Amino acid sequence: MKIHNYSAGPCILPKEVFDKSAQAILNFNNSGLSILEISHRSKDFVAVMDEARDLALELLDLKGKGYQALFISGGASMEFLMAPYNLMKIDGKAAYLDSGTWANNAIKEAKNFGETVVVASSKEENYNYIPKEYTIPADADYFHCTSNNTIFGTQMKSFPNTNIPVVCDMSSDIFSRVLDFSKFDLIYAGAQKNMGPAGTTLVVVKEEILNKTGRTIPSILDYEKHIKAESMYNTPAVFPIYASLLTMQWLKNLGGIAAIEKINNAKATLLYTEIDRNPLFKGTAKIEDRSNMNATFVLNNESHTETFDKMWKQAGISGLTGHRSVGGYRASMYNALPLESVQVLVDVMEELENKI
Ligand SMILES: *Cc1c(COP(=O)(O)O)cnc(C)c1O
Repeated sequence: MKIHNYSAGPCILPKEVFDKSAQAILNFNNSGLSILEISHRSKDFVAVMDEARDLALELLDLKGKGYQALFISGGASMEFLMAPYNLMKIDGKAAYLDSGTWANNAIKEAKNFGETVVVASSKEENYNYIPKEYTIPADADYFHCTSNNTIFGTQMKSFPNTNIPVVCDMSSDIFSRVLDFSKFDLIYAGAQKNMGPAGTTLVVVKEEILNKTGRTIPSILDYEKHIKAESMYNTPAVFPIYASLLTMQWLKNLGGIAAIEKINNAKATLLYTEIDRNPLFKGTAKIEDRSNMNATFVLNNESHTETFDKMWKQAGISGLTGHRSVGGYRASMYNALPLESVQVLVDVMEELENKI
């Protein structure tokens, strides 16, 4: 039976990515060797790394604009500290928007480096909206935000205009919608939400913002060192990077971010329309801030939980259980999830209504 994978991460990837990466494990580029056993310095893998870096910038329309793309290990969580290490001056200051658990984790790390101003927070409402009225201190070294709050199902629809560098954690909506990415100075995204398997993080950085802190940065945490080493400062996560490249190639062949955005909008509209129409369900995020990637919703009457859970599992749906801090359900509709999978969920929700 076909499984409709709604997992929040690691997540569904295109079938052709699974097929091609499985093949590369057995015999990479007809070399007779597995991608798992070749040197990261081999010609074949250097070509993978170069193309992956180049394609990331191409998809984001950042080529020739002073940006570098890197693949770094340690997850998005390590970027929570790499960002302040590389951007917060000694005795400097950083500004953060607190829109969810991940934003909060980033704030905790920044506090270890210096004054960290939280410009606004939606914590008191269990992060069910994106704060919008706030002032960013003009003397901060950078402003940090989270474009999509994976756990709470909210997504920033616009970004503040500011003259200071803008840092954005795009882990769960990278490559999902068209934005003017040149408004950001540092973008990072753990691969396992919308780009590839766990184990690598895409970092896109505008070079001119680096080397301004006066800090001594440990080499492995220094973006400049990773740039100089062409993202091979140490052994990179060869397989996750290769699978990420395959996903980016799939996206390019589909027509790039503009094409997938249309499909993502169609999926989100289909599901949110049903959540709002069906009297048994209600969405947990404020409507104007709803995420097109992670839709969070609950049953109005919890006594239907057992029946509903049985029904969606029978329909081949997997990974729909909500994060413990919100409860209910979370449908993660990342790029590779087909529209048909959303239709299956909507059909189950209607079926439940008819049954009760
Ligand atoms: C999952 C997630 C993270 C953490 O990613 P790791 O790679 O596990 O460190 C950070 N930010 C956001 C928005 C996420 O969804």
